[in-house]
Order: sequence, then C-alpha cells, then structure tokens
Amino acid sequence: MSESITDIKAIPGISTEEAEAIQRVTEFFPFRVTSHYLSLVDWNDPHDPLKRVVVPDEGELKSDGNLDPSREKNFYVLPGMQHKYPDTALLLVSHQCAGYCRYCFRKRLFLRRSTGEHPPDINNCLEYIRNHPEVRNVLLTGGDPLTLPSERLMKIIRKIARLPRIEAVRIGTRMLSWDPARVIADRFLLQGLNELTGAQVYVMTHFTHSRELCGEALEAIRLLKRCGVSICNQTPIIRGVNDSADALQDLFNALVAAGVSPYYIFQVRPTVGNSIYSVPPLEAYMIFREAQSRCSGLAARARYVISHYAGKLHVCGLTDEHLVMVYHRAAFPGDRGRTILVKRSIANNSIAFFRTNHPG
Ligand code: SF4
Repeated sequence: MSESITDIKAIPGISTEEAEAIQRVTEFFPFRVTSHYLSLVDWNDPHDPLKRVVVPDEGELKSDGNLDPSREKNFYVLPGMQHKYPDTALLLVSHQCAGYCRYCFRKRLFLRRSTGEHPPDINNCLEYIRNHPEVRNVLLTGGDPLTLPSERLMKIIRKIARLPRIEAVRIGTRMLSWDPARVIADRFLLQGLNELTGAQVYVMTHFTHSRELCGEALEAIRLLKRCGVSICNQTPIIRGVNDSADALQDLFNALVAAGVSPYYIFQVRPTVGNSIYSVPPLEAYMIFREAQSRCSGLAARARYVISHYAGKLHVCGLTDEHLVMVYHRAAFPGDRGRTILVKRSIANNSIAFFRTNHPG
C-alpha cells in the first residue's frame, strides 16, 4: 500500500523555495498525498493537472467562501448522519482521506480544530433508518470510507444492506485515485463485497483526470466489478485540472473504457480557499457541453450539477440570455422539478452566482 506524506518539504518534485512559499497555506488547510499519486504527477510540467490537485496554492489564503457552503450542519439528524433528501441517508463514516484534494468542500473535517461532526454510531443510524420508511438508499462518505479498517467498513455495509427497504448502499471514495493497491491487496474487502446479500453496492469513484485511471486503478476497478459492485464516477470541474473540453472528453472516454459510468460533474462549491479552483457555472457548462458533444452516448451520461443548501441543480441548457437549471434533487418539497433561469452575466461569475442564486 502507498505511503501517506504530509510534509510538503519531503516531496522531491517541489523546490525548497516553492515549499517555503506554500508552507503557510498548509497551516490553514493541511496537506496530504500518497506516494502513488505523486508517481502520477509530471514534475517537469509546472502546470501539471495532477500536481494542481494536491499541491497547495497561495491563492487558497484568500478569505472568501464558507467552511460549510451547503450548510450541511442543518441536515444532521444524528451525530455523523445527515438526512437531506427523503429517500437518502448520508453517513460520514470517516473523517480522513488518504490524500487531500485542494478544492475539497468538506475541508472543515480536516482542520486542526474539531467541527463537532462525529462519526456515526451505526446502531443508532440503523434504528433511525428502521423508523423512517422513506429511506431507500444510504451513502457512506466522509472523508473516505476506505480509510476505515475493512472489518469495520464491511460490518457497517452488511448491517445496512440487510435492512429490507434499502435498495442501494453507496460508498463515496477517492481511494482508487489515491491508492488503488488499498483495494487490490484487500482480499477481506473483496470477499466481503462478493458475498454480500441484500442491497446493491455502488462505489462512487472520484477520478478528476484521465491520467488517474492508471494500470493499478484499472485493476482495482476490475476486481470490484468482479464482486458485483456497480461503479460510477463523480468529480468537480476544477480550474487547471479538467477545465477544458479535451480533458473532460478524455476523462469520460477513459471511464467508459474502464466500465465506469460517468455520473456527476459538479460545480466547485464556494468553500473557503476554493475560489481559485472554481470555474464559473456558465463557462463550466459550455466546456461540459462541448466535451459531451464529442462523446458516444455511453460516455455522455454525466450531468453537470450545482450542489447547494436547497438541493442539486441540474444545469441543462442555455438561451441567448440565460443559463437554464432544473432541481434534480430538492431538500424542500416546493422546489421539486422547479426550473431556474440565471442571467448569463451572473452565471459567468462564481461568487455572484452563489450570492444571488443560492436559493437557501
Ligand atoms: S477525497 Fe473527497 S473528501 Fe477527501 S479531500 Fe478529496 S474531495 Fe475531500
């Protein structure tokens, strides 16, 4: 398995001057990366997209945004468990990741001071789900569920999958990018998934760029699929990483070749320190649309979605004056299926967009 590195000065591809300049950033937003991910970076290219994913940028020190941009704290029903959409329960089973994406919208979990968001007590969560017949699927997230010991993770998955009404258990993980060997070497996890009965398991991967789908990642995907697990991918569109039609097209095609369904392309949320990674919604939609227009139907299955306090907006069209969005998921019943038109001038500025159109 891959080693985790937290000292920016220990990275051979970063000069002492560069490390000193960005050290200040890591005092606010910690740095963490795996040796596997570092091996994928092209250190000869100062603008390498994979370097951009993990190496801090001084621009993160701009004091804009919010530590909890989607106000997730409002949706906790139990410690470690959110219930925002009627049919979905979300459990933050781990507060760790093998590496930290610079644009993370839950970076608050990794700060030195506690946010008071505790890992769930699985028995209390099961009791809650039993008492809420509208819950039909459960999302395990964090942090990264695959940072948990496999015995513990499988225990949680088994207990949830056995509940009669639960149709799907989703595992949101970036481990296949950070450290695919974590999956390849874990016979206990693979056997446990293979023998699982009850709900269907979906692994929600987070590949941001086609180069992350290296040989080891493909092998991890193959092994998971052999266990009967379905795999979907979701990623934000990130400035300097995948903010071009070419990069997205390559990603969609690489996912399809690996047997992974492109699922969501997200807008970077206005989290503190994230504005430099954000692509304004209008520009992001145009990049997304151009990439999809060059892909097969299989590769063009993803939706471009803006997540916020009141739900998920599916950005689905453009007129001469407006960006067109429809509520794909709504936290409040009155918003279900509602269409929203946003002036192009506002949709072309991330901050203005979230200030003026944040329905929450
Ligand atoms: S893997 Fe997900 S939770 Fe972890 S740092 Fe990246 S975006 Fe955040």
